[in-house]
Amino acid sequence: MTGKRPCRNKENTMRKMNVECIICKKEMYRRPFEIKQARYFACLEHREIAKGMFPITDKQKQSLVLGRGRSDNGLTGTTKSEKTKKQISDSHKKYHEENPDFALMR
Ligand SMILES: [Zn+2]
Repeated sequence: MTGKRPCRNKENTMRKMNVECIICKKEMYRRPFEIKQARYFACLEHREIAKGMFPITDKQKQSLVLGRGRSDNGLTGTTKSEKTKKQISDSHKKYHEENPDFALMR
C-alpha cells in the first residue's frame, strides 16, 4: 500500500478543459484571463480558419498596426527597419495616452 490516491493523480495529469475549439470542438485549457479577453477559441490547427470567421475588431486592427498582434498570430513577425521601429514606438506612446486602460492591463 503506497497510499497513493488514483483520483488525485488523475486530476494532476488532466488539466481541466474549460473551452473548446469552435471548429472541431476539441477541448482545451485556457487561463481565466485569456478567456476574458478572447471572443472565441480555436486549436492551433484551426486558429487561422477561426480568424477568418471572426473579423477582428477595430482595437485589434490597431494593435496589429502597432505590432502588438504577435502573440495572436505569427504573421506580423516581419523584420522592421529602424525607421519603422521609431514610428511604431511613437504611435505606441500616443496609443497609451489615448488608452490608459490598455496600458494598465500589461
Ligand atoms: Zn480545432
